[in-house]
Amino acid sequence: MTPDIIESRYDIVIVGGGVTGAGVFHQAVNMGLKALLVEARDFAWGTSSRSSKMVHGGLRYLKEGKFLLTRSAVKERQRLLNVYPGLVTPLDFIMPIYKDLGPSKTTMKTGLNIYSLMAGERQHRNFDRKTTLGLLPGVRSDQLVSAVGFRDAQVDDARLVLRLIFDACDRGGHAMNYTGASGIERDNRGRVRSVLLKDAETGAEREVRTTAVINATGVFAETLHPSPMKGFHIRPLRGSHLIFPGDRYKLDRVISFIQPRDNRPIFIFPWEGCLVLGTTDVDFHGDLNADPGITSREINYLMEGLDSILPELDLNADDAVAAIAGVRPVLSRKRKSASKESREHVVWKDKGLVTVTGGKLTTFSLLARDALRAAAPWLPGKGRTTKNCLTPVSGPEAGLPGLPGLDEAACLRIQGRYGDRINELADHLTEEGRQPVESTHTLWAELCHGARSEQIRHLSDLLLRRVRIGLFLPNGGLSVMDRIREKVSPCVDWDRKRWEKEIQDYRQLWKRAYAPGEITGDD
Ligand SMILES: Cc1cc2nc3c(=O)[nH]c(=O)nc-3n(C[C@H](O)[C@H](O)[C@H](O)COP(=O)(O)OP(=O)(O)OC[C@H]3O[C@@H](n4cnc5c(N)ncnc54)[C@H](O)[C@@H]3O)c2cc1C
Repeated sequence: MTPDIIESRYDIVIVGGGVTGAGVFHQAVNMGLKALLVEARDFAWGTSSRSSKMVHGGLRYLKEGKFLLTRSAVKERQRLLNVYPGLVTPLDFIMPIYKDLGPSKTTMKTGLNIYSLMAGERQHRNFDRKTTLGLLPGVRSDQLVSAVGFRDAQVDDARLVLRLIFDACDRGGHAMNYTGASGIERDNRGRVRSVLLKDAETGAEREVRTTAVINATGVFAETLHPSPMKGFHIRPLRGSHLIFPGDRYKLDRVISFIQPRDNRPIFIFPWEGCLVLGTTDVDFHGDLNADPGITSREINYLMEGLDSILPELDLNADDAVAAIAGVRPVLSRKRKSASKESREHVVWKDKGLVTVTGGKLTTFSLLARDALRAAAPWLPGKGRTTKNCLTPVSGPEAGLPGLPGLDEAACLRIQGRYGDRINELADHLTEEGRQPVESTHTLWAELCHGARSEQIRHLSDLLLRRVRIGLFLPNGGLSVMDRIREKVSPCVDWDRKRWEKEIQDYRQLWKRAYAPGEITGDD
């Protein structure tokens, strides 16, 4: 059970527990503010657990002339690699160059030179045709010229959100999931006076006083704060991925390639021992309140793309263990083709209410800084610093903790994900706790720690966001549910009836939104 920690007054209330809200919350607490974060569903339930997990400058934005966006994203990537080693990890990319499709060698070289300049060091290299064929067995050889390689980074997106939130909680911030903001009250001069909160499941309501509210609700932003700009609105765009067992193709880097149908770049990349294929970019017309699902049209699009780059690979949509879809909060004025819409963020202000939406996972910290700057007049000590003050609780200089029975790579992975809470997690590192769950990289200790100490309300919170095994194991892990139940039971106060309900709800949710074979997403 989550203890009710909400007090009656805060300096600032942050609405939305995705990476944007988590970043604002983290920085607000670091600035010494009394801060509350509320999330209507689970932390990272929205887009922030459904991304491509890349911490990147976005090479394609260069092509669109968005130099500033790319430059700030490259800088953020470097900073995040330094601040969160083990959570944000370097990731190599390779992009085969063809005569008949996609950017030419010269275009790629120019783009990558600029990219390297922005990072302050050369981060790319060229591979000749023969090396490319050796690095990517089975890659389409017809019209292949060469390949370029470059380096970006990868993150477990949901764990980044949780790390930001729990680090801030350990420094005095308050964060409640399953608590939605249902309204904002203002005084007679129109200034924010309080926020109305509602427990998403019991319906219990309460009012919390504050003069500053940050609306970081992603695609939901216009519910609390309609766009102040005529004709400029959120355009929800869905992106979906298919997840395959990692042993179907040995891949140690991202293959970035062009889907020939519409010339869009898509990727197949390694993540936590699996292979992930994505993403799409299509208008979303479904219910924003439900977990989105991939559609059969998107599956065909992705599989067709994969077939075009790895024609000899014997991999079908049926081999996918899971699918995951997310909805981008993209701001749109003139309806362009989905992929051409800007990924830049906006900040809207209205007498204490600040809305921040759009942007990218990579640049969450810049969104946080801009939102806090906009909120400064409504915060105590108006002149407070709003510089980018993202700091780890224990810096890398603190060194790696010695976790009994775990090698250096596993220690780094755990430290990156759990920060100073590693000591709590260590309590679960028994002989059994150190074992991975089936074929995944996740330890049983992580499952127990998530259940006991990370504010889960439901089984889906645990299996889809605290750990991600619901995306890696066949059938969402339902086939090993007896074992999961046995291990997790001592860490939650669920009786037999509650367990049965949790398992049944999880099964339904997984089949509806994550099972690649049982598609219910809208087309
Ligand atoms: C398919 C896909 C791939 C992507 N890949 C990348 C990538 O590789 N790299 C990258 O940098 N970016 C990527 N992005 C973009 C990135 O994921 C998003 O920009 C980012 O996650 C948005 O975070 P957010 O916190 O603004 O929104 P969200 O994560 O959606 O968070 C908003 C939260 O607000 C909550 N909420 C809504 N209303 C209320 C309310 N009234 N009260 C309380 N809470 C509320 C919601 O439940 C939700 O959890 C990708 C996006 C998609 C869709």
